[in-house]
Amino acid sequence: MIQDYEKLVEKISKISGKEEQEITGLVDAKRDKLSGLISREGAAQIVANELGINFDKEQVKIDEIMKGQKNVNTVGKIIKLFPVNNFEKNGRKGKVVNFIVADETGNIRTVLWDANHIKLIENSEIKEGDVVEISNGRLRESELHLSSFSDIKKSDKNIEDVEEDISNEQVFIKDSDVGKNLKTRAVIVQIFDPKFFKVCPNCGKKVERAAEGYECKEHGKMEPKERALLSLVLDDGSDSIRAVMFSEQIEQLGINHNDLKPENFSGKRGEIEGGEFFFIGRVKQNKVFNNTEMLVNNVQEVDIDKLIEELESNEK
Ligand SMILES: [Zn+2]
Repeated sequence: MIQDYEKLVEKISKISGKEEQEITGLVDAKRDKLSGLISREGAAQIVANELGINFDKEQVKIDEIMKGQKNVNTVGKIIKLFPVNNFEKNGRKGKVVNFIVADETGNIRTVLWDANHIKLIENSEIKEGDVVEISNGRLRESELHLSSFSDIKKSDKNIEDVEEDISNEQVFIKDSDVGKNLKTRAVIVQIFDPKFFKVCPNCGKKVERAAEGYECKEHGKMEPKERALLSLVLDDGSDSIRAVMFSEQIEQLGINHNDLKPENFSGKRGEIEGGEFFFIGRVKQNKVFNNTEMLVNNVQEVDIDKLIEELESNEK
């Protein structure tokens, strides 16, 4: 994805045949005119429009797909195809297919919602290893979504060296490994009582009790900050795993510091247990308990409603 301004300028320069310097000059002029109310990226988009560049029609490399882009055209090789998923929500049935498409610059999870596209997969007309041409896809979050307005077809282009590293991809707990990253969509089946400890506000390291108050090895005496640690058990249907998380991730679960107090916690626990989230972290060996556990560094909500909304908009 094009996140940075420099790449955008480079691209506009390439298509328009103008020097990059000239493009940045135009962008700065545009921003001045708008009293700096617009981001550099936004101004660059306007400049591109004025130069008659339509990114919507252009075929892009995977790492050039822009944040929020609505008409993505790209070509890539399917390096991983996931099974067709049936789902039912509020009495509605639907199908969805995910695959990872890659070129030499990157890879991206692609989600098919349209029954005709899904049929191509079901009939093996499009399969893992095939190079496909995608038009009119839409970037949502960091995934490429294809609706009935989009198109996918087999391409006779040959793509050799593709970016195979899909470390941001979801894996099942049963396939997780010590020392590896894990992103799983899992249900919280158990939450243990929170534990608290004190850290130095300067470096975040655990502090020692001193004769008076607390002491950090590096920063000496200071007023410590209280941090919480929560252990839970996650289950994604393939297996379960013990997970630990600290204050920042606990907050991402919707539990604030006050909820963690013993008198409030049992009620909050009832709310959160059974909830489904994406958990992203690293699997490590816990030497004390001699088991594997996941150190969670990010929690994201599973937005089923958003997925359903997408599906419904495809049917109109
Ligand atoms: Zn310190």
